[in-house]
Amino acid sequence: METADYKRIRELMVETQLIPRGIKDVRVLNAMRKVPRHLFVPEYIRHSAYDDMALPIGEDQTISQPYMVAIMTELLELKGDESVLEIGTGSGYQAAVLAELAGEVYTIERIPELADRAQRKLEEIGYDNVHVVVSDGTKGLEESAPFDRIIITAAAPKLPEPLINQLKEGGIVVAPVGERFSQMLIKGRKEKGVLVEEYHTACVFVPLVGEYGWKG
Ligand code: SAH
Repeated sequence: METADYKRIRELMVETQLIPRGIKDVRVLNAMRKVPRHLFVPEYIRHSAYDDMALPIGEDQTISQPYMVAIMTELLELKGDESVLEIGTGSGYQAAVLAELAGEVYTIERIPELADRAQRKLEEIGYDNVHVVVSDGTKGLEESAPFDRIIITAAAPKLPEPLINQLKEGGIVVAPVGERFSQMLIKGRKEKGVLVEEYHTACVFVPLVGEYGWKG
């Protein structure tokens, strides 16, 4: 398929999967129109890259459904110059969407093979404001903290304490929190040192595995 065809399919994705479900932030919609999602999925499923579902990316992990990427990004209320921490790089697709909308993106992945692949892909496409780090993201990234925004793209039993500490006053964290196989999307805003939380949609993510997440 040609680049122009993918562009048309992305427009269709925006018009059939995102706008009807309530995604309104024009900057988010434009980022979803722009980022080449098909380059972040394995070649054998490239034809399904823009389908309304999560897809396998190897190592038992998944790239989230386009709608889930869009709603999580919209909830972050990005204006353009924020410093964002993502836990769970996976394919690197969410990081690319964030890179279109924020200043600097720090993204942590615990599986080195996925981190390597994502880093190479992001470089190849030309995202020079994304920094991929291999480590246990539940501990955050002290050396680059504090962050304006934090997004966890794996299912957390609860919000990891170190991440809340590394969030700026007035900052926003978005994460799926709950049971191992079903979660609620939570948005928390740090106000006077405490997190004020809102609950959004039900969702299912692969587990956040680490010191402040699920055990192995
Ligand atoms: N945002 C990704 C999808 C994430 S899937 C994308 O756009 O493709 C969840 C990812 O979180 C997986 O790659 C998994 O390995 C990773 N992960 C799970 N626990 C983690 C931890 N403690 N630290 C960093 N990454 C973690």
